[in-house]
Parts: sequence; structure tokens; C-alpha cells
Amino acid sequence: MRITVLGTSASAPTKERGLPAVFLEYLGEGFLFDVGEGTQRQFMRFGRSFMKITHIFISHYHGDHVFGLPGLLSTMALYGRQRPIHVWVPERQVVYVERFLRALVPSLPFSVEFHPAAPGVLFSTEGYSVSAYALDHTTDCLAYVFEEAPRLKADKEKLRQYGLHGPVVGRLKAGECVDWRGKRICPEDVVYEKPGREVVYVADTRPVISNVAKGADVLIHEATFLESERQMAVEKKHSTAREAAEVAKALGAKKLILFHFSPRIDDLSLAEAEARERFPDVVAAEDGYTIEI
Ligand SMILES: [Zn+2]
Ligand SMILES: [Zn+2]
Repeated sequence: MRITVLGTSASAPTKERGLPAVFLEYLGEGFLFDVGEGTQRQFMRFGRSFMKITHIFISHYHGDHVFGLPGLLSTMALYGRQRPIHVWVPERQVVYVERFLRALVPSLPFSVEFHPAAPGVLFSTEGYSVSAYALDHTTDCLAYVFEEAPRLKADKEKLRQYGLHGPVVGRLKAGECVDWRGKRICPEDVVYEKPGREVVYVADTRPVISNVAKGADVLIHEATFLESERQMAVEKKHSTAREAAEVAKALGAKKLILFHFSPRIDDLSLAEAEARERFPDVVAAEDGYTIEI
């Protein structure tokens, strides 16, 4: 699983920073969270393929999070995309985002399927699920949670103790007891459940603690302002870097990635430092920041 933070600026781009977009690659699928203006170029800059995108999740319809959509889809058409693409948008905003796209790009050689997103599970497969929960911004805004299904694993040390190998391990994982070298061995003797990985994407919001996001391996959280600008964060319904760190702590997250910085913040180390006072494993992402988990 690889996560690339493609754009880290809020409201407007800067010379160094593009607008919000985070790309998660997982077993041949590509999940794009938000699509700020210029996202297609960020893919090229950082050596990622936008043709791999299977789903796009829009947090909300403020321009800095959606203006990249028509350009991105048009270029996909130019490159011969045929595979359908799914676009999730908060339910009351679907009509506007869809109209915005269709007005500028009336026809595409592949189907763009818009889905209304609301708090709860959006969809799931055998291997993972994607859920949403409500944030607290000036308009409907959703956080998205990618969660891998738990997996059954065989404890290597125990397999060695019992001398187990080959197809019999598969039978144990499938829930069968087996007779092996004169002993009866059951799944609970060697098989355990490994929890799936969880990635949480939180764009524009005041701090929100949701059970859906508890125990995230990676929390990607907006940090538009510094703590010295807290009043502005409250008025504009955004978070400070320190508040993002407090959210990470309350959620029991393992790692925090800050993004969506006001263009006025030149020195990201200030955001990172104030967050670290509350939560140690934090990084203020530059464009192109990548992590594999
Ligand atoms: Zn924004
Ligand atoms: Zn916004």
C-alpha cells in the first residue's frame, strides 16, 4: 500500500505547493482523495500514473478540492482510457460537481459514475471497505476511511514447532482441524487474525473525533493554520497543526501526515514542531511526500 501526497496547499497554489490530492495505491486499484487544480501534473511530477485511478473521493465542493477534475478526466480520454471511473461526492453536492464536469466536458469515451456519499460504509469488497464520516466545515464535508479486511495468518514459529507445512496450513486457515503426525491440531493453535491496515483522509474541518477513524495506521489531516492563528481557524472552520495532532492522539493513530497549509505558511517546520508537542510521529508533508505501509 503506497500513499502519495500530491498537493499540500490550501485555497490557492504556491510556487512550491499544489492543491489537495492524495493518491493511495492498493493491489492494482487507485484511490484519489480530492482533485485540486493541477493534480494531473502532480501525478507526472512524482512519477505516478493517473490512468490507475479507479475511484475518486471528493471531500467537498470547494474549488481547491475539485477544480482539477475536468482536466484530469480529459487527459485520461486523450490517453485512451476506457475503463469506467467512480466519483464519490457528498450527497447534496453531487449535482453541482456533475454539472460542473458535464458543462466543460460533455462527452468522454469512458463512463464517469457519480455516487452520493454519506456517513457510513460507501462500499466494500472481500478485501477492503471505504467509509465516510461527517466533518465540521462551512459546508458538507466528509472524511474518508479506507480499511483493509482482517486477514488470517499462520504463526510461523508455531508452524515450525508442529513441523507443519504445505497444503495442511491452508486447511487450518480455512477453519479445519487436521491430524498431523499423530496429533490433532486446530486453527486456534496456529492461526491468528491480523487486523487490516487503515488510512483516514481528513480535509477541511474543525477537529472531529469519530469512532470510524479509531486506530488508523495513517491519518492524513488538514492543518490550514498555526496555533497562533487559532481564532482564524475557528472562524473559517479549519484546524491548526496542533489541533490535528490532538485529533491523532484521541484517535490512537500510529502516524499523522499534515497537509492543506495556508499559502501564508512558508516554513512547514513550524507546523510540524507544534504538532509534535502533542503527537510524536508527525510529518508536515511537502508535495510528493510518499509512505508505504
Ligand atoms: Zn480546502
Ligand atoms: Zn473548504
